Amino acid sequence: MKIKRIAVLTSGGDSPGMNCAVRSVVRFAHWKGIEIFGVMHGYRGLISEEFIPLGPRDVSNIISRGGTILKAARCEEFYEKEGREKAYKNLISRNIDGLIVIGGDGSFHGALLLHQEFGFPVVGIPGTIDNDINGTQRTLGFDTALNTAMSAIDKIKDTATSMDRIFLIEVMGRLSSAIAVFSALAGGAEDVIIPGERTDLKNMIEKIEEGRKKGKKSWIIIVAEGAGKAEEFAREFRKYISDVRVTVIGHLQRGGGPSAFDRILGALMGQAAVQALLEGKHCHAIGWRNDDVIVYKLQEAIKPQDRGKISFYHQLIHILT
Ligand code: ADP
Repeated sequence: MKIKRIAVLTSGGDSPGMNCAVRSVVRFAHWKGIEIFGVMHGYRGLISEEFIPLGPRDVSNIISRGGTILKAARCEEFYEKEGREKAYKNLISRNIDGLIVIGGDGSFHGALLLHQEFGFPVVGIPGTIDNDINGTQRTLGFDTALNTAMSAIDKIKDTATSMDRIFLIEVMGRLSSAIAVFSALAGGAEDVIIPGERTDLKNMIEKIEEGRKKGKKSWIIIVAEGAGKAEEFAREFRKYISDVRVTVIGHLQRGGGPSAFDRILGALMGQAAVQALLEGKHCHAIGWRNDDVIVYKLQEAIKPQDRGKISFYHQLIHILT
């Protein structure tokens, strides 16, 4: 089947770099002589027919902008087969031959069902700050979010050091530990609390008290949001240590202009997604492995993340103090 028309959408939570991928999809497809449609508001727009034709000039000046010009959304209807059927019919009625979905794990599940139930060609680009898609070493937006978290830790550390305080800093990542572990490493934090591991608060408190006796008065502990609320951990700490402060970095980590790495990753992944559709890869994901773009099965991408990667994160924690 010759691909003549492609649609692209961004789905789930927005992440920095999504615009770079959209720009790349549009410009590369145009160069290949393919017509391209943007779908507003993710799967919701597929169902409510929010298609807009996109040309190379429509994606000018978005490379440095965070968020997504196509808007990202969550869509209850797409969880149901009837909703997906409506989406399929809307694609077919416009003679669209392939769909590129930029989003996280949930969005990939939806894309897989659209392919399995109706045979519609789909390619997924992993767009999430959580770095939690199986089979790829990087997702789009993770590098930017990590750098934002690191900058925040640097700033908080100035106060922690000057005022001899203990800080618990909560970072994003849902059930993923990636931002927490890597921002702790990059920011020089003393400890990290991550999901999937019983946190030995008593041991942490002992370490802090020992450190204080030796003159180390400030301490930074990064809390992955999936492990629990930093404020709740702080309550436990305060039973033994005064002057424990909490900062929740929150949505600051989702926004902002993408890093150079995410811009380039978006460009390479967008190009690869169009190319994959042209080559008849109709149920695939784009990933990043060993410094190169890869194309692999969508089924592989939605599997739970490799345990090896998770235990590697756990090992890194021992470098901190
Ligand atoms: P993310 O893609 O960032 O993981 P979500 O999990 O919220 O974000 O998924 C985004 C959208 O993808 C959902 O609102 C829904 O429309 C669709 N989706 C998610 N999971 C499924 C699923 N299991 N089946 C069908 N559609 C899904």
